[in-house]
Amino acid sequence: MNILVAGGAGYIGSHTCVALLEAGHTVSVVDNLLNSKIEILEQIKKITGKAVVFYQVDVTNEAAMETIFSEHMFDGVIHFAGLKAVGESVAKPLEYYYNNVVSTLVLAKMCRSYGVKRFVFSSSATVYGDNKVPFIESMPLLSTTNPYGETKVMSERILMDFAQVNNHHSIALLRYFNPIGAHESGLLGESPNGVPNNLMPYMTQVAKGKQAKLRVFGNDYETIDGTGVRDYLHVCDLAEGHVAALNKITAGVHIYNLGTGCGTSVLQLVEAFEQANGIKLPYEIVGRRPGDIAECFADVSKVAQELGWTAKRDLVAMCKDAWRFEQRLLS
Ligand code: NAD
Ligand code: UDP
Repeated sequence: MNILVAGGAGYIGSHTCVALLEAGHTVSVVDNLLNSKIEILEQIKKITGKAVVFYQVDVTNEAAMETIFSEHMFDGVIHFAGLKAVGESVAKPLEYYYNNVVSTLVLAKMCRSYGVKRFVFSSSATVYGDNKVPFIESMPLLSTTNPYGETKVMSERILMDFAQVNNHHSIALLRYFNPIGAHESGLLGESPNGVPNNLMPYMTQVAKGKQAKLRVFGNDYETIDGTGVRDYLHVCDLAEGHVAALNKITAGVHIYNLGTGCGTSVLQLVEAFEQANGIKLPYEIVGRRPGDIAECFADVSKVAQELGWTAKRDLVAMCKDAWRFEQRLLS
């Protein structure tokens, strides 16, 4: 298939480009490089031996997107082009609503105009709010605690309404749990600007000495050891989930959790990292981070049954691959 990957230079998008190319698909990437670098495209080529067509374009620029769609006959679109920092979304709500919602509207409109039948959207487990674990696709969504989460709820809603009247389109709303790790080559991974917000990139920076110690946000949750529990999955497994969705979805909207189904606490992840890499990670317990929930993990039976996808890589691989990538970074 000929696939447009919006946000394909980013962390999950770049790994998905690799998975698509390795599965024999043709890939075009549109990315404004707001949170990524052009060099990523070279890394994708080094890994796969194949090039992607690249457009440095903002997805909210409808006229520029018209030109791209008119030049290709895409079979499908994957939409990763979002802003994703939860804290920043509280400080910059208009930018988040505009970027994340308008990009969805523009891409859906292009799919309608150019008869592109497959649409895969990057949603998030954050849409479940503080529901009871494990989170199941059929659960009513509870309110999210920040504008970022709301943009995911809104985009899902837009695509559901779109599918109601455009019933030849096949739409997958993929609710990611916590992707971590990196490509095993060490050529692709997650390198956030500034001080990382997320746990794994913070841990790898502590391991490298870029941060003095990890701050563990709260040890008084009702969890196995009091620290927050999440469903960490390897970014390459997540990438392969997109290929499975593109191949398998039929007309209508399909919602899938992409996770492992296993919860891991902060301290369990620290221990896994230490064991996998033979490195001690200094940490201190500090207060809870506002907006955090105690536990978040997926029920993954629907995606296994309908798409035949399950996460294969374990925590050891996630920790080793994340650390290998961090070590290759220059600073
Ligand atoms: P990322 O920031 O690494 O990648 C997003 C890419 O989209 C970047 O390359 C950025 O430059 C680009 N982009 C953003 N807005 C754009 C626009 N208007 N036009 C063109 N390009 C644009 O983020 P990621 O971690 O790869 O996440 C990809 C998607 O998955 C996002 O929508 C994110 O909200 C969602 N998601 C991520 C996680 C996670 O933990 N990383 C979890 C759940 C959902
Ligand atoms: N966390 C932490 N210290 C950090 C970053 C995160 O203790 O520096 C905890 C956080 O409270 C949560 C878990 O690690 O319980 C995962 O956080 P992350 O930001 O990676 O993902 P999210 O909370 O968005 O699921």
